[in-house]
Amino acid sequence: MSLTDTIKLLEEQSVELSPDKDERKALREDVLALTEGFLEELLTSPAFGSDETGKRTYEKPLLDQESWAAILSKVQDELELPGINAASGRHLGYIPGGGIYLGALGDYIAAVYNKYQGVFFASPGGVRMENQLIHWMAKLIGYPEGAAGNLTSGGSIANLTAVVTARDAHQIKGKDIERTVIYVSQQMHHCLNKAFRIAGMQEAIIRQLPLDDHFKIKPQALENQIKEDRTSGLKPWLIIASAGTTDTGVIDPLEEIGVIAQKHDCWYHVDGAYGGFFLLSDEVKDQLKGIELSDSVVMDPHKSMFIPYGLGAVLIKDKRKLYQSHYYEANYMQDTLEAEEISPADLSPELTKHFRALRMWLPIKLYGLTPFKACLTEKIYLARYFHQQISKRHGFEVGPFPDLSVVYFRYIPLTGNANDFNERLIKLIMDDGRIFLSSTVLHGHFVIRCAVVSFRTHLADIDLALNMIDEKVEVLQCQANP
Ligand SMILES: *Cc1c(COP(=O)(O)O)cnc(C)c1O
Repeated sequence: MSLTDTIKLLEEQSVELSPDKDERKALREDVLALTEGFLEELLTSPAFGSDETGKRTYEKPLLDQESWAAILSKVQDELELPGINAASGRHLGYIPGGGIYLGALGDYIAAVYNKYQGVFFASPGGVRMENQLIHWMAKLIGYPEGAAGNLTSGGSIANLTAVVTARDAHQIKGKDIERTVIYVSQQMHHCLNKAFRIAGMQEAIIRQLPLDDHFKIKPQALENQIKEDRTSGLKPWLIIASAGTTDTGVIDPLEEIGVIAQKHDCWYHVDGAYGGFFLLSDEVKDQLKGIELSDSVVMDPHKSMFIPYGLGAVLIKDKRKLYQSHYYEANYMQDTLEAEEISPADLSPELTKHFRALRMWLPIKLYGLTPFKACLTEKIYLARYFHQQISKRHGFEVGPFPDLSVVYFRYIPLTGNANDFNERLIKLIMDDGRIFLSSTVLHGHFVIRCAVVSFRTHLADIDLALNMIDEKVEVLQCQANP
């Protein structure tokens, strides 16, 4: 066969990857039917399901082809029931978000266009879109002009980006690491510990600061420790505060810590992966005052902006610092230089990246901020309502009035071990599955958390959670006193 005949033959096979208009329509309609069915059932479908279907789908080798209908039915089997239904408004565990529909449509458009989002030259429109979002978030925080940032896959990578930037901004070299000090709270998210390790800062001195009764950093203790460290010839470097901790949803005293950071020339990082967007709620935004004193902030649109998973953001007050840690010039990139806008690839470890901007830009552009603000304030009030209702009940010990939208509690049985009781309680709640709550340990106490963050969570869901808690406590009491 001639070379061109061979090429033609291969072409015949490869065009299968390019469905025509009618084929696309058929595929799309089936996908729409699947996703519509899922969405229509969300009000009644469980928030948590067991993994019974298990590995069935994956027992067959990947390369055994099947019909499109059979494949979609497997997708449904494997994705709808097993595990947490993170799209459900009854997911009240960890930090949910929900995933607004326009975010999914944004991803659809982004993937069809497949713009190359790493450099301005390749997608000026897309990069301007990302930078517009970054500037909006920087302004929301209260950063001056000259801030920069990056849309990341989530809070973990965003925090890592900030730690690396802080390391380079303070010119910490290998020989300095053992004398360098990081100030953290025991309630800080563990992804920052991971970030220290990945950034080569694991051997720095990591000071766990004393916390007050509400698990917030005590600013005076921080300042005393910094002074002591300086006197001992150490190098205080990085202070990390949380704008909404994952466990209990509290906000560290951001302003007082910020003033201390400035006074002692430390890099101040605020992890607002969960709480940052509560700046949009008039009800709580004053509590976040001081966040603007930071050098870097992380906020997760896939949590409190309800965007589907896969979107975090890092903001750095001084654009040059972020650029210094992440830019690169390579010969094969020479066409891309001298762009009007800074390229995401020069502000992040990523070169090629998912076109993440559209999934956030689209909903903001269409809806404006009003429904987001309302939704966040609604979550605050729902958490307060949950706190009020559970406090009224007999036998419960409840955490403090929530700063944001996380409440924790435990039931104290008349007899027997409280930790065992609450462990069995969360297990019963999970087995039931209508509501999903998660647990944690605070001061050695096993406690249950209710995190109200999903845009789909409304009053009826919180009432259902309260009823279920009552029901399960009763079951356990009957077991103990038959
Ligand atoms: C969720 C969370 C993170 C981690 O973010 P991912 O998006 O899960 O990577 C970091 N910090 C806080 C406070 C969080 O709530």
